[in-house]
Amino acid sequence: MSQVSQVERGYFGEFGGSFVPSDLQNVLDILEEQFLKYKDDPEFNEEFHYYLQEYVGRETPLYFAERLTKELGGAKIYLKREDLNHTGSHKINNVIGQILLAKRMGAKRVIAETGAGQHGVATATACAMFGMDCTIYMGAEDTKRQALNVFRMELLGAKVVPVTKGQARLKDAVDEAFADLVQNYDHTFYLLGSAVGPHPFPTMVKHFQSVISKESRRQILKKEGCLPYAVIACIGGGSNAIGSFAEYLPDQEVRLIGVEPCQAASLTQGTAGLLHGFKCLVLQDENGNPMPTYSIAAGLDYPGCGPEHSYLKNSGRAEYVAVTNEEVLEAFQLLSKIEGIIPALESAHAVAYGIKLAATLNQNQTIIMNISGRGDKDVEQVFHMLKKEKNR
Ligand SMILES: *Cc1c(COP(=O)(O)O)cnc(C)c1O
Repeated sequence: MSQVSQVERGYFGEFGGSFVPSDLQNVLDILEEQFLKYKDDPEFNEEFHYYLQEYVGRETPLYFAERLTKELGGAKIYLKREDLNHTGSHKINNVIGQILLAKRMGAKRVIAETGAGQHGVATATACAMFGMDCTIYMGAEDTKRQALNVFRMELLGAKVVPVTKGQARLKDAVDEAFADLVQNYDHTFYLLGSAVGPHPFPTMVKHFQSVISKESRRQILKKEGCLPYAVIACIGGGSNAIGSFAEYLPDQEVRLIGVEPCQAASLTQGTAGLLHGFKCLVLQDENGNPMPTYSIAAGLDYPGCGPEHSYLKNSGRAEYVAVTNEEVLEAFQLLSKIEGIIPALESAHAVAYGIKLAATLNQNQTIIMNISGRGDKDVEQVFHMLKKEKNR
């Protein structure tokens, strides 16, 4: 980590950029060049959409949650069903996009980091399908919380490396993955799982996840004949949210709302700082070190957030709110009981705020809640949390 170079590209206001050692910067420059070369290439896009349709199962429904709407007596609620994607979350959208790029760049080995295990599973899945060598870095704490996902990745042929440094969580796994990339960049592609990191990652991840709002905008116009009053998504690094917001950004009348956990609320409580080679709103101590965070949803357990969200917050185009663990647990149960859809604990954050907001609106207004993933992976954890609550 000798020289630190700074690149002007990839800024969202004061946020974003690339603050990395020059050897890593060289790798990122090539990545940017290749991404720009292929992102509007018709053949590349045809292949991307082929796999999204045939392998992932897109497009996902924009489902009218009729019983939930009646129960709350407010806005009409639609659910964007990213939980129905192959591997159970939105993460596969980005994985397919980046792995197609990796193939074109001639990479033989893919590395990735994972928190909840969802991105690791999505990456290992796509690597199996494309016949790529796959190594997944995961905080040792998270390997315990998501032991079945570790086994799943191994079944898919990936090597899972538990990271014991620091808090032994997502942030530490990211550090390890970057260290690997610097060592092995000549044959390795780092497949980053969220709209974070140095340029061009946030821009690239947004590009691939925008399929969510491309579909939902078309779907809501067809079903309702007008744009939604609000779009709501949970925020970890911010990829499902930026993908859900992207196509609505020019539509000033559409409220865009990101929902964070109270104890990992970088957008509502953070200050501008540097994390993993980019600037964003981050939870940091007085020395600029990232603070420990906690979320019942492992995928939201990150002290920073995407640079574009940091910018959208400061510019006022998007709003960011935090919900409590109790609200999340209630939303998790409500959606399960009333719609037959068990959401991921991450997605239950969006639901928790969405149901509060919907109750204050009227039936002429519609809201879209992004169900970023399914809750099967969380059922056992919720079982134990509810049992504890009962015994109190
Ligand atoms: C990883 C994950 C998230 C958080 O990541 P973002 O990049 O903020 O979208 C949210 N929901 C699910 C289901 C996840 O797996």
